[in-house]
Amino acid sequence: MYGFPRRMASSRGRIIIKTPREIGFMMKAGEIAAEALNHAGQRIAPGISTWELSRVIGDFIKMKGAKPSFKGLYGFPGNACISINAELIHGIPARKRFIRAGDIVSIDLGAYKDGYHGDLSATFACGTIPAQTEKLLRVTETALQDAIKQCVSGNRIGDLSNAIQTRIEGGGFYIPDDYLGHGIGRELHEDPSIPNIGTAGRGPRLTPGMTLAIEPMANTTTKKTKILRDEWTVVEGNGNLSAHFEHTVIITSGEPVIMTQLK
Ligand code: MG
Repeated sequence: MYGFPRRMASSRGRIIIKTPREIGFMMKAGEIAAEALNHAGQRIAPGISTWELSRVIGDFIKMKGAKPSFKGLYGFPGNACISINAELIHGIPARKRFIRAGDIVSIDLGAYKDGYHGDLSATFACGTIPAQTEKLLRVTETALQDAIKQCVSGNRIGDLSNAIQTRIEGGGFYIPDDYLGHGIGRELHEDPSIPNIGTAGRGPRLTPGMTLAIEPMANTTTKKTKILRDEWTVVEGNGNLSAHFEHTVIITSGEPVIMTQLK
């Protein structure tokens, strides 16, 4: 999924340009997704289970007249992916998985409304974390902002990839490059794929109406990852901390618009 393997791209090589009407629908889906993430983030505290966070997210999204995008996608069982500490992405909410003080918690979710998706994630700290962990989060989030600054018509996907790579590797972290950002629209995962490493000036050219889910990821000690026996949860290869941030962005003729920005 978000950070999905390349084979899961669904628009078969065609980048779908959205009409203003479609963008209006996507803005609404993105807003609901952003509100749901904020709502869940505020609930993070020692003792809450990842299942409870998933329930809060599902209830909120449904209350807004939308559906959780991830529920049932490729068979994923939760309303959101909730990944703690070494878990990078695709953590499955569980009743007995409790968050503890000092954990970092990635919540990745989507909202589907009126036929369109919005997708975002953020990694939250539960209470106080060491300075190096704080750095991991800030560098990954800044990599996302750096990539968004490259979301200008005429630039190429490689400009985004290179911005992410430069920031994360420059911060001393490792990029788990098996997982990618993606186009988004009627499908959660459309073309183009957006690698988190790459060469500036390469790849598909950005044009107004493209909608992109950009999702930098950073590992502390290796680019390698492992998938746990639940066949979903992706963890940092050495079992050390990892982080993930994501926004859905639209390319315009001017500045990019973050569709999943909290209003
Ligand atoms: Mg995504």
